[in-house]
Amino acid sequence: MATLEIHDLHVSVETETGSTEILRGVDLTVKQGETHAIMGPNGSGKSTLAYSLAGHPKYTVTGGTVTLDGEDVLEMSVDERARAGVFLAMQYPVEVPGVSVSNFLRTSATAIRGEAPKLRTWVKEVKEAMERLEMDPAFAERNVNEGFSGGEKKRHEILQLELLKPKIAILDETDSGLDIDALRIVSEGVNRLREGGEVGTLLITHYTRILRYIKPDHVHVFAGGRIVESAGPELADKLEAEGYEQYTKGAVS
Ligand code: ADP
Ligand code: MG
Ligand code: MG
Repeated sequence: MATLEIHDLHVSVETETGSTEILRGVDLTVKQGETHAIMGPNGSGKSTLAYSLAGHPKYTVTGGTVTLDGEDVLEMSVDERARAGVFLAMQYPVEVPGVSVSNFLRTSATAIRGEAPKLRTWVKEVKEAMERLEMDPAFAERNVNEGFSGGEKKRHEILQLELLKPKIAILDETDSGLDIDALRIVSEGVNRLREGGEVGTLLITHYTRILRYIKPDHVHVFAGGRIVESAGPELADKLEAEGYEQYTKGAVS
């Protein structure tokens, strides 16, 4: 069972006015098969956590540790992290001119699996995954993220998850900008992966809406750059009713 362990993680971002500490001691353990929801107000550092785990160069780790099965993730390059099985859904939000979805996925799968998937089985794999996500087959020939709608971007993320089968999947605001059908399809995709028991999911969200479709095992409240409360799924209901104010009052930012 793969285990991602984050201990006392401190991260700063460089701005024009100098270096600002965003993450202030994050502690979290995610095991394969578990679903953790991280919820919190805007600006609390949720995306910073996601980017830091993926190795985004803008964010400097100033303290703490991140390990995957005891291996130091912070020492790994972005590619090494992906190969080790850490996947960030926001990893490729940019357009990739001239690269089709199907080529992009095959290249990613080759990088992660260490060898190119056999073409015939691969084509079938992609086709079936796209059918499950109710995607038009023509989508595979479009260029990555070029003119994708919000819903198409998210489906493309889940398609990557289904095909690349990471150990730890980090989904940052996967629910934002989705209409109800897209939300259902995306949620079903996450739940399918989860049923396989192979993936540990870190579901980062501002709203409780997606948690009606994806039931987390653990809910964490993120405020002021750290986890300030952790509990079971009932915590999401409490947040829905009471909001985040109780966690942000008197917070120093
Ligand atoms: P969340 O995802 O919870 O809304 P973020 O991680 O995006 O929060 O942002 C947390 C804080 O860090 C905010 O005050 C934001 O302005 C700041 N921040 C995040 N990334 C950057 C960046 N690349 N440059 C400057 N400031 C940043
Ligand atoms: Mg600390
Ligand atoms: Mg964010």
